Amino acid sequence: MSEDPPAAVPGRLTEVVAAGDVLVVSGAGMSTGSGIPDYRDRDGRLRHTRPMTAEQFRSEPLERRRYWARSHLGWDRIAAAQPNDGHHAVTALQRAGLLSGVVTQNVDGLHTAAGTSDVVDLHGRLDAVVCLDCGDRRPRLELALRLDAVNPGFRDRVGVAGGLRPDGDVRLADEVVECFRVVGCRRCDGVLKPDVVFFGEHVPTQRFRHALGRLAASRSLLVLGSSLMVGSGYRFVTAARRHGLPIVIVGLGATRGDRLADVRVHGELGAVLGRLADRLAAGLAAGAAGSHREKLWNAGVSRQV
Ligand SMILES: [Zn+2]
Repeated sequence: MSEDPPAAVPGRLTEVVAAGDVLVVSGAGMSTGSGIPDYRDRDGRLRHTRPMTAEQFRSEPLERRRYWARSHLGWDRIAAAQPNDGHHAVTALQRAGLLSGVVTQNVDGLHTAAGTSDVVDLHGRLDAVVCLDCGDRRPRLELALRLDAVNPGFRDRVGVAGGLRPDGDVRLADEVVECFRVVGCRRCDGVLKPDVVFFGEHVPTQRFRHALGRLAASRSLLVLGSSLMVGSGYRFVTAARRHGLPIVIVGLGATRGDRLADVRVHGELGAVLGRLADRLAAGLAAGAAGSHREKLWNAGVSRQV
């Protein structure tokens, strides 16, 4: 039994996006089509036990080791993930000049990988590592190579038998964690943390204000694949409401913002956004001014996304 109708694109969704200056806020549902699982089920409940908190990570060396052992294994899959049709459609809409900004709660970097520019990574990026002591920021790949070097054969011994989480984590037995070695900052030997906002941690204030500030230059809010259960996402909806902006929510499953949405589209993001781009391109081809139409076509707003 399918709970969701086939990907339909309501006229109102097309209308709102065609008006331009759309602020996109995306969440985990955006990346499920790229093989990165969502934290929550369709009713917004957490699928797994709670992820490690920032406080646990900072204060408990054993928990930190557990995190890195699991994350090291999960990283391969995150690093290999490719943008899907949904990411490509967002890029096309941006290149067509219809977006005022793209803010994502995802830490996988897939919007940027799809060619979207100026993305605000609200919760940070998993492909970067920061030192909690001196602030040094390095590529995750470099750390992955260092961890491989001090844990020879670890990957082969353990393997990844499923259970990957959206933050690149995997489930791992205690005895496996105990034999894993972590490394410190290359500059000061301090504690390394992935440059992401952990569960229960706040988005850095300046980054959050910068992202929320984009609403002032926007005509609408388009939420893609976020359950909005995390406060940082939900605040975009309440702020848009205060500004009187239309709110459109697209994705599978219930979201915390549903009662505030002007348009609610249940469907798989890649399919819905692909059709939306088609429709915009067709509409513009039929009647819009030549220069803007050409801009859209050149930007690739067509089924090729
Ligand atoms: Zn350091």
